[in-house]
Amino acid sequence: MSDCLFCKIATGQIKSEKVFENDTIFAFKDINPQAPQHILVIPKRHINSPAEATGSELTAIFSAAARIADELKIKDSGFRMVFNQGPDAGQAVPHLHLHLLGGRPLHWPPG
Ligand code: AMP
Ligand code: ZN
Repeated sequence: MSDCLFCKIATGQIKSEKVFENDTIFAFKDINPQAPQHILVIPKRHINSPAEATGSELTAIFSAAARIADELKIKDSGFRMVFNQGPDAGQAVPHLHLHLLGGRPLHWPPG
């Protein structure tokens, strides 16, 4: 989608700190991290809800996030994966993205 921030990040039109990429997935550091490790994992295809994702896209998103958690050494201490969906969840960017957070104790519920 031409005017989507995360589509532009996935295609390299806008710079990001990439941590992982394959055919369907792009992952990069969040510009305003809420934890020592805060990564966004997105499908390259422009969709805006988990319901629009194919099973293989969802598998690819979670597999990439799990692999990144291992690489960032937060697998054993613990991490959180979350989709913010829609206005009540404070979703700011309308391109599906999984937040991967770790590197500090994560309290629940969040603020
Ligand atoms: P959400 O509120 O779930 O839509 O999350 C959007 C996330 O995108 C926020 O955590 C922002 O800090 C992050 N973000 C916005 N612009 C950029 C950018 N150019 N590069 C990296 N992360 C970004
Ligand atoms: Zn997009």
